[in-house]
Amino acid sequence: MEIGILKAPFMRAITDACNTIYKNGWGENHAGNLSYRLTVEEIETYIGKGWGATRKQKLETACPDLGHQFFLVTASGSPLKNVMNDPEIHLGVIHINEEGSGYEIIWGFCENKQPTSELPTHLLCHSNRLKVDEGNRIVLHCHPTYTIAMTFMHELDQNAFIKTMWSLNSECVLVFPEGLGVLPWMVCGNGEIGRESAVKMNEFRIVLWPHHGILAAGQSVDQAMGLIETVEKAAHVYVVTEGKRRQCMTDEQIIELAKAFDLKPKTGIINNVVGQIYSK
Ligand SMILES: [Zn+2]
Repeated sequence: MEIGILKAPFMRAITDACNTIYKNGWGENHAGNLSYRLTVEEIETYIGKGWGATRKQKLETACPDLGHQFFLVTASGSPLKNVMNDPEIHLGVIHINEEGSGYEIIWGFCENKQPTSELPTHLLCHSNRLKVDEGNRIVLHCHPTYTIAMTFMHELDQNAFIKTMWSLNSECVLVFPEGLGVLPWMVCGNGEIGRESAVKMNEFRIVLWPHHGILAAGQSVDQAMGLIETVEKAAHVYVVTEGKRRQCMTDEQIIELAKAFDLKPKTGIINNVVGQIYSK
């Protein structure tokens, strides 16, 4: 007898995250969406071995690498603030077919809801993250306020952005030593921004969409949320100290930190890129 997916630990973590994102002001209106990969064992434990499909859909962009994978996904047009109270409406579980050309809904999305319109972006990102980290579980998108604000104030050169982030808080280089990806501004929705985000995910767990928001991937909900919280804290400090900064962490201090924690930060950032860190 299956336990019931509403009692699964990952369900609690996901509904909590949706609530936190909304309360932090990072998921206004219909903003924010996530996808969480489930294992066959989790499906059998929480939905049952005899799971059946309710609806089938085609994928515009096939994801052959994800054949037979299961994902818990937020619904299109669903405010994140509603997920906690009615998860079976605002969340659903999909099973990708063998060829990766379509999916069937096997749980949730009641009241004829559909997966987020960003599903192709999520699946492309999962596909690429899994190639570099087979433990990856989640792709999460939201609108952290100060991170967005920083994309108006800082140059959008990726290396310069990474260096500034690392120099704003000791935690940054420790939490994302690989840096973060910065895309140019692009039209949101499906298509190019999804493909380009997935390319960034080959190298980074965090991708910034200037003047829009952030994408984060990780092995758990906490890991993805932790990445976003760390970026947002540094961006908050960057914005509130604008025009007042007398100093930031130096290259030597960042290197000292990385050495102390035995980390190898992305090369090409320290000592040869001049970020716009200091106020004139
Ligand atoms: Zn968005």
